[in-house]
Amino acid sequence: MKCPVCNHLFNEESDVLCLNCGWRIRFFLSGMSEKEENLYNKELSIARNNWQQLCSNDQKHEALKKKLNSAEQLLEQKDITIQKLLAELQVFHQKQTDWESQQSKDIETQNKNIEGYSKTIEH
Ligand SMILES: [Zn+2]
Repeated sequence: MKCPVCNHLFNEESDVLCLNCGWRIRFFLSGMSEKEENLYNKELSIARNNWQQLCSNDQKHEALKKKLNSAEQLLEQKDITIQKLLAELQVFHQKQTDWESQQSKDIETQNKNIEGYSKTIEH
């Protein structure tokens, strides 16, 4: 038999509760009075509503989880790009520093040359 709330199959002989949604399974061998039937129907409709709410919350939760996952992946990709750019920037900076120190060495050499030249002229 199927649970009237969530359609989960249950064992008619041993189950008194639906193991999926917690609905208490009742068998009415002699039928119900009108009052009992009304109450039962109300209870059933509330339980069905709650179950549907629960399922749709689950679906929303799943959808949010997927969004979060893809956002995390995107962040990771961006992080990798940033790391690459930083590495490139570091190489560029190193080259510039090398060039600058070479320049100052060149200027030093030139100054020495000029100094030597002026000494030659003075003598
Ligand atoms: Zn159920």
